[in-house]
Amino acid sequence: MQKEELNPIDLAQRFGEGQYYWINTFGCQMNEHDSEVIAAQVESLGYQPACALEEANLVIINTCAVRKKPEDKVSSMLGKLDLLKKEKDELIIAVGGCMTQQEDLALYIKKRFNQVDLVFGTHALPRLPDLLKQARRQKETIVDITEDYSGSEPLPIKRVTAYHAWLPIIYGCNNYCSYCVVPFVRGRERSRKFDDIIAEATGLAHQGYREITLLGQNVNSYGHDLPGKPDFASLLAKLNQVNGLARIRFMTAHPKDSTLDLIQTVARGEKICEHFHLPVQSGSNKILSKMNRRYNREQYLDLVHTIKDRIPEVSITSDIIVGFPGEEDDDFTATLELVKQARFDSIFAFIYSSRRGTRAEKLPDNTTYQEKEKRLQKLNKIQQQISLSENEKLVNKTMEVLVEGNSKSNPELQTGRLRNNKLVHFPGSDSLTGKLIAVQIKEARTWNLFGESEGEPF
Ligand code: SAH
Ligand code: SF4
Repeated sequence: MQKEELNPIDLAQRFGEGQYYWINTFGCQMNEHDSEVIAAQVESLGYQPACALEEANLVIINTCAVRKKPEDKVSSMLGKLDLLKKEKDELIIAVGGCMTQQEDLALYIKKRFNQVDLVFGTHALPRLPDLLKQARRQKETIVDITEDYSGSEPLPIKRVTAYHAWLPIIYGCNNYCSYCVVPFVRGRERSRKFDDIIAEATGLAHQGYREITLLGQNVNSYGHDLPGKPDFASLLAKLNQVNGLARIRFMTAHPKDSTLDLIQTVARGEKICEHFHLPVQSGSNKILSKMNRRYNREQYLDLVHTIKDRIPEVSITSDIIVGFPGEEDDDFTATLELVKQARFDSIFAFIYSSRRGTRAEKLPDNTTYQEKEKRLQKLNKIQQQISLSENEKLVNKTMEVLVEGNSKSNPELQTGRLRNNKLVHFPGSDSLTGKLIAVQIKEARTWNLFGESEGEPF
């Protein structure tokens, strides 16, 4: 809308006109998506994206609470923003996301960093424009961490790319793994309506998007709270029929709910990418039970083998926590053995981080941090060898790549993703971004692949 067309009321709403915003996002894909919603909200107020933090009149930090490390990063960033605000009095600082959804942390931030103007939780996105308006007028820090699920959609979204879109299908989590803060900060499971998801995917395909990633803490829980209880496999099968889309991804699938029906749907759906992110967390049955994961190592390995049998060229990635309270040497050895048997394409491994309010917080933990670090290194070393040898299997193959743009480490190269989610770098022109092309894999490394493009885009 042109500024000239706005009436005085609209103009008052667009108090960000001529000003710039900067969003710093920590954490998972759901947070990345929330930041796209935040961007659309602040642009509706007239703000434009800043090229650098220092240029911004509005800084929003979207926080993560899953481990202590990202929380520490937020604290250090708020310290730096304190200095910036001293130079720039009109700067508005807002902190939102999973960390601030916890009342004690929201109040701590308000008290400790009094230059912060607004503290908002994960449920406050629909109210963000009004909250910012209040924050601008009021000297006192505004806090909104109400657990209000209503009116959360449809909210406008400013997507980061024009070829890939995040598409949340279920919010929240009911699983209560004993180490995890997510159910406390994201609330109970709420599935989006089946038809709304199909309509959004269809709209994206019309706009030229080639790839969508369906998001949920446990996508397999999709639909249990909806009339008629549509399940995740049926949603995937329906999305596979959306014309124009080339790739459908999903994350995360909880192993306990990954059914044969789901595996068959992935195997059959030509658009559904051959990749499962299947967090195992531990290879020890004793620890899995203490984690409340509700599967054992034998069931997990059966699942991995079924997936590999039914879906040729599938990649399986995982998350692992080392040093969970009570993890002894033989438990950790069981994790290493599982990793060798599962032969994951890659893993994210983390040292256990105690989270307030979780059941595991109360468990006795006698292992030193130093020992946990050693375990992490050992695990990563073994996995790196496996990743490299799995990647080497792809050398000389010609594979479909969705091009994402210039490589971050070498701007001479383009970067793209295979259907199995592996990254490939190759020489090519900037105009390929967002296109599907064929690339022959020439070299495998631990974290990525190198190749040469073959011919024109599909
Ligand atoms: N919903 C997803 C995971 C969300 S959190 C799932 O169930 O798989 C992402 C990952 O962070 C988890 O898989 C786990 O490996 C890790 N994580 C979660 N809580 C943690 C904690 N307290 N300490 C260390 N790692 C943790
Ligand atoms: Fe956390 Fe478990 Fe829910 Fe994943 S399934 S978000 S690990 S409680």
